[in-house]
Amino acid sequence: MLCTFRPLLLELKHPFRLATGVRTHTNAMLTTLQWNGCTGIGEAAMPPYYGENHDTAAVFLEKAAQWLKNLPPDWEINRESIAGVMENIDALAPGNNAAKASVDIALHNLWANITRTPLWQLLGVNPDLMPPTSFTLGIDTPEVLREKIQDAQAFQIIKVKLGTNHDQDIIRTVRELTDKPIYADANQGWTDREQALDLTHWLAENGVKIVEQPFKKHDLASSQWLSDRSLLPIFADESCQRLADLPQIAHAFHGVNIKLMKCTGLSEGFRMAAAARSMGLKLMVGCMTETSCGIMAAACLAPLCNYADLDGCWLIRNNPFELPEMKEGKICLTAYG
Ligand code: MG
Repeated sequence: MLCTFRPLLLELKHPFRLATGVRTHTNAMLTTLQWNGCTGIGEAAMPPYYGENHDTAAVFLEKAAQWLKNLPPDWEINRESIAGVMENIDALAPGNNAAKASVDIALHNLWANITRTPLWQLLGVNPDLMPPTSFTLGIDTPEVLREKIQDAQAFQIIKVKLGTNHDQDIIRTVRELTDKPIYADANQGWTDREQALDLTHWLAENGVKIVEQPFKKHDLASSQWLSDRSLLPIFADESCQRLADLPQIAHAFHGVNIKLMKCTGLSEGFRMAAAARSMGLKLMVGCMTETSCGIMAAACLAPLCNYADLDGCWLIRNNPFELPEMKEGKICLTAYG
């Protein structure tokens, strides 16, 4: 199997203001696999806070390419064989989760292309269970928020980044512009438990449906304290990356945000969804700022989830792929394969 890759610099439509700073571009890598005359494409989306970049991904994917080159010619592609390859790819080096995800997504895309069957069908998911996807508004001035909300018209849910010292003002501004339900992401920005609980009550009164990652990722005690008292479901994002993290965090949250770029792709993502369910956790599928390639792969996991936050490809100017089709605020799976 031939594995090649090329870096992409994704240009954000709006500079992204988070509790941690401002971003205008984000790094991605497109990985292409060629096998028996067919092609599969995968993506690594690499936000700076997980430590991956074009250089680390290139070093890792070079190793992956060497391994994939030696696949026997009679290798048959299916769900189990892809999972088997991914176990080997995972073992090549620690970390590199997004680079690994690009290989996994490319293998799944190759499987769909070889069998000429939509991936969601191969994976046995029911597109009727697709949850609506939220559209993220970064922290911004009221003027810019007004502009951004225009981009959100096709979406039924707004996701708002909080974790500032003026979170209520942000929600009030959004509420002046729309009465759509809101998912709030504190991005590890809250520090005081009592204040967080008061704010959570206030958010619930103002149409917020869930709260993501209230405290620092390792401060599970505070997250558990809040989860025990909060009316709103509290979700882990940065606190939980991979399947192996689930047992340590399950007691501290009501749900977990699964992202392909954190958990090395669809093979582990599906296992993670099943494991999280068995632990009584609610599920959200999320994304980084990424192209339609990564988003449409994640959309195949979405029907297993209660919530979807798959807006990444609507936040960039230079998406090399077509935007996903949307119906009633939900991504349509029919076109993919
Ligand atoms: Mg988040």
